[in-house]
Amino acid sequence: MSGLVIAVDGPAAAGKGTLARRLAAALNLAHLDTGNLYRAVAARLLEEGVSAEDVERATRVAAELQVQDLERADLRTERVGQVASRVSAYPEVRAALLEFQRRFAKEPPEGRAGAILDGRDIGTVVCPDAPIKLFVTASLEARARRRHEELLARGEPTIYAHVLAEMEARDTRDRDRLVAPLRAASDAVTLDTTNLSADEVFAAAMAVVAEKSGHSKASVRSGTVEQY
Ligand code: C5P
Repeated sequence: MSGLVIAVDGPAAAGKGTLARRLAAALNLAHLDTGNLYRAVAARLLEEGVSAEDVERATRVAAELQVQDLERADLRTERVGQVASRVSAYPEVRAALLEFQRRFAKEPPEGRAGAILDGRDIGTVVCPDAPIKLFVTASLEARARRRHEELLARGEPTIYAHVLAEMEARDTRDRDRLVAPLRAASDAVTLDTTNLSADEVFAAAMAVVAEKSGHSKASVRSGTVEQY
């Protein structure tokens, strides 16, 4: 059973996770943060003391990934994010994770009206036929500031200049890799969140959902998703 599929892509800390969670709740969609798949592979490699250069091991870990691996408490650390960005450049790792993502989009859990996936290549590679695609972005400085504040709030030691430099390095790796580089799908609507609050981003996204699905904003806002 497949329903509505929404693809949300964009660079790190642009606000796509927050937006995807809110849209999922409002529209009764199952949500998959696909960055967590790459993070789970990275966390396992770090745990095993295996180098991020070991493509064979990374591919094996990706192929054997279980849903419970996505529940690990250490997935959101900067270290894991950096290694995730490295292993995600390997075509073999991406291929091993593709089926999991497509299945989630096609067969959302019982009772859900569809699925929303957020990542880097959802609209371009994972779900190219998704009827609604959002590309959520913000300036490098705004994203580094948000990530820095998030780390401070979690009590992680952090220096803004380091966060900025690491985010820039990650952006470059995500954009320049040969397989599934970060870019907006040609039919995606871009939301620049640099000067917007989370509420404003959500409202803008709901307007896109309403327009793309051909229904009034009011009916979409009420979450009556059977209409799709
Ligand atoms: O979004 P998040 O920061 O959790 O993603 C971690 C890393 O996983 C990203 O830097 C990116 O390299 C990779 N990723 C990807 N494709 C996705 C989601 C994440 O390559 N669909």
